[in-house]
Amino acid sequence: MSQFPAVPRIRFVLVGTQHPGNMGAAARALKTMGLARLVLVAPEKPLDEEAFRRSAGAEDVLGGSPVVATLAEAVADCHLVLGCTARARRVQLEELLPAVAAQRVADRAGEGAEVAVVFGRERTGLTNEELQLCHAAVHIPSDPAFSSLNLAAAVQVLAYEVRMRLLGVQPQALAAPEADPGFREQPASHDQLESFFGQLGQTLDEIDFHKGRAPESAMRKLRRLFLRAEPSEQEVRLLRGILADAQRMARLAGAQGEGG
Ligand code: SAH
Repeated sequence: MSQFPAVPRIRFVLVGTQHPGNMGAAARALKTMGLARLVLVAPEKPLDEEAFRRSAGAEDVLGGSPVVATLAEAVADCHLVLGCTARARRVQLEELLPAVAAQRVADRAGEGAEVAVVFGRERTGLTNEELQLCHAAVHIPSDPAFSSLNLAAAVQVLAYEVRMRLLGVQPQALAAPEADPGFREQPASHDQLESFFGQLGQTLDEIDFHKGRAPESAMRKLRRLFLRAEPSEQEVRLLRGILADAQRMARLAGAQGEGG
């Protein structure tokens, strides 16, 4: 049993593999990343000694892999099918980075859906008809002048990314900007921050925050806090609005004190 409940719903599908050794190496790649389901679609040759040798201890994954006749059959019960392609933007499909694809795999499998990640033939990759069965394409952004990874190496990259998402490791690129409304706001400039610090210092005087202590130490700490937070222009405006109200209230209180 895997530590991740999503794992049994994630299958890696190899279509028309030409070298049995690659099927073995793919099984090993999956097992190192805690994945366990390999499906073989019409391999050119049956599993052989070389395949098991290259699986290097992942005989259970390799030996347990069903062999089916077509990709359609291999993914018939899947809700998400992602096709890995060595050539960028070859098809009219959304093209995902491995990390983004892996997030979808982990999310959908986590919700209970069956998910497939599909790999093509060593020589010719996936046919257009096979890619039509996929919801999106995945391209490992390799050197365009030498873009094709060994099949098992490509399996390893995707299996690694899936494991990272299952472990909850979030690369910066996956953090949706929409999730953080402050994200796109223009950060405050040096001048804007200095004017804010000036007003903050005045306000602290006016509300008698220091009570006879030297103001420098508190101001140093406050500067450190606000510089670390890298506030946006809007956030600085909000803070200055609060200070302006505090100053107004302090003046009112002062005037009342004098009057009364
Ligand atoms: N000459 C083939 C290369 C196939 S490599 C072609 O141009 O399509 C075998 C399989 O490994 C590919 O079908 C794909 O599933 C995977 N693969 C290899 N390099 C890849 C890359 N850069 N990005 C995504 N998948 C890749």
